Amino acid sequence: MDSAEEGAHDGHAHSRAGALAADPPRRVRNPQSHDRLDILVAYTASAARNWADRGGPEAAIRHAGDYMKMVFRNSDLGVEPHIVHIVQVPAALEWTLAGQGWWRDIFPTRWRMRGDGDVLRLRHEHRADFVHFVMGEGPLTLGFCGIHSALSRGGTAESFFQSAYGWTSNNAACRDFAGVFVHEIGHGLGAGHEPDAVRRPEALFRPYARGYVNFDAQPNIGTAMAYKGQVEPFFSTSRFDLFGATVGVRDEQDNERTLRETVHIGVRYSDYLPLLEDLPPQPTGLRVWFDGGSAHLAWRDNGRARTLTSWNTKCRPRYPTGGCSGASGKP
Ligand SMILES: [Zn+2]
Repeated sequence: MDSAEEGAHDGHAHSRAGALAADPPRRVRNPQSHDRLDILVAYTASAARNWADRGGPEAAIRHAGDYMKMVFRNSDLGVEPHIVHIVQVPAALEWTLAGQGWWRDIFPTRWRMRGDGDVLRLRHEHRADFVHFVMGEGPLTLGFCGIHSALSRGGTAESFFQSAYGWTSNNAACRDFAGVFVHEIGHGLGAGHEPDAVRRPEALFRPYARGYVNFDAQPNIGTAMAYKGQVEPFFSTSRFDLFGATVGVRDEQDNERTLRETVHIGVRYSDYLPLLEDLPPQPTGLRVWFDGGSAHLAWRDNGRARTLTSWNTKCRPRYPTGGCSGASGKP
């Protein structure tokens, strides 16, 4: 989770053409890409609006991906993060998320993200180790600008691959999108906050999976996982000093050491995805109509039983596959 006050640099003022040229999209067909951390990014309509005057979401997301590569290289992690695909959030999921107060409803939101068939299909197609959403709405009540499940003690690629989902806000109030994006993926690889922001130390993947803030330096220095300090593109480390200032404590605050161990778990998350052929077929025949002051959706669920599923805005189901009793269902 992230604080809104984290980071200050503006990383989005690059042209779309420049960003795409720096990191052209590539498809991944080799499921054994263990030298790379493959990330699928999906952005909402509100996120696209926030970036409309900055070359659009593709350019901004590619730039953030380049920033992440720099952080990984600076920390000498030996694995390169790679954005394998960028897509707008599928219409059904966008509708599910929009206007439902989901922003303050973290766990059902993640459930919805994980449960979306189109996103799941893309994750399989691109063998993505991570799926990350970009939201345009402002920070949570508590100031969070991003969320990610944390790889915790004892975690494995097999136990965690279904948790490798998170989101980051690109709202202006959150400021440093690229910095928060790196921070959230860091959680998905077991990196942790600075000591006074660690809620459950016993759950840390390693005892030294903690960030570092140096208030003795002027200006102060924050590392990628720290809430405080001016964030620099490094994970906490005891391997070197930064501008003559310490940015970690050996055996205590060393996310770099943690990540060197865990990144090899992260690149294997996609190994545990079931085969694409084993997924249920996609729904078809999505229809939207307005009637009596509410919006209605209907589609054909082609999995298991061939049933018609529908929602309307007056009976908001808590979970997307749960249907909605009393929903009107024009075929
Ligand atoms: Zn965090």
